[in-house]
Amino acid sequence: MNYKTLTIDTSLPAKPRARVMIIYTGGTFGMVRDAEGVLQPFDFSLILEHLPALRNLFLQLTVIAFEEPIDSSDVEPPHWQSIGSIIEKHYDTQDGFVILHGTDTMAYTASALSFMLRGLAKPVVFTGAQLPISESRSDARENLITALEIASAFRDGKARVPEVTVFFDFELIRGCRSKKVESMHFDAFQSENYPPLARAGVTIDYNDTLIQPPGSGPLKVLRKFDQRIAILKLFPGMTEEMVASVLRAPGLKAVILETFGSGNAPTAPWFLRLLKAAIDRGLIILNISQCPGGRVVQGKYETSRGLVEAGVIGGADMTVEAAATKLMLLLGEFGVEEARVLISQPMAGEMTV
Ligand code: ASP
Repeated sequence: MNYKTLTIDTSLPAKPRARVMIIYTGGTFGMVRDAEGVLQPFDFSLILEHLPALRNLFLQLTVIAFEEPIDSSDVEPPHWQSIGSIIEKHYDTQDGFVILHGTDTMAYTASALSFMLRGLAKPVVFTGAQLPISESRSDARENLITALEIASAFRDGKARVPEVTVFFDFELIRGCRSKKVESMHFDAFQSENYPPLARAGVTIDYNDTLIQPPGSGPLKVLRKFDQRIAILKLFPGMTEEMVASVLRAPGLKAVILETFGSGNAPTAPWFLRLLKAAIDRGLIILNISQCPGGRVVQGKYETSRGLVEAGVIGGADMTVEAAATKLMLLLGEFGVEEARVLISQPMAGEMTV
């Protein structure tokens, strides 16, 4: 990914309180209307004109803007790798990072980065907006200012939130617990199966006991993804032909089965036979619930006992976004045998075991 870099000192003439890097990838956030009213990517060198309140934060900002900002529906693993590499390159000179990203796939990128950044001891805060920064009622301004405040917050001289998070509307959510749940209103994200890490009102109230401790040792970036996975969402009426064609896709290494309720699935013999045959051929099959809340408990009902017998792995309370990015990373970095074991072990606070 090509990008340009610019430095904006919002603190002048005082000394900056902290150094934060903004990585601007695209999405609705950075759109402005040109003279003809057409939405164009925003020129970040004009950020202080749009957001004079930034001066009150006393930050030294370094902005890295993708030369071709993208809608997040076009995001792929190479974009995650680029973000990881930028963070790695500037890790020692920055106190925190804010990633401006389209909301549509933000939960995937935030999950991917949670797993990629091993030993993270600094904040990486994702945010975006439902309305472009140029619109008068835009949520972009509040979201960016609070994200910057969180990325530069210290407690006893250490980063207050040393993990990958999503800040949106008024909540700070662990990145690998985030899910986009709303496309019209400003409260676009929800924290799944874990309380928010902070709420921003008159003050920012941090839930310090829920925040991950900082990683120890130097930052290590895992960056190999194997994309040969599939997500198979179950529905009443699905056919044997459809399930067979997914499970027999050439080169496939793993399948996320999006099941009902607490991890339940049809008991039809053809279905269980296809799953068993796929597992015998070496595929990983991971059970993730379609329910945003709650967890997979295989064997709780008769309708999930067959899955246990076939060798399906229970995905506990992981989101599908976390499960997909974790699987791709584990397969890419460690191969199928290790991934089969590691998928059930928490890596970044994405699951409760
Ligand atoms: N389609 C946009 C994107 O995800 C939506 C947004 O940014 O809110 O890039």
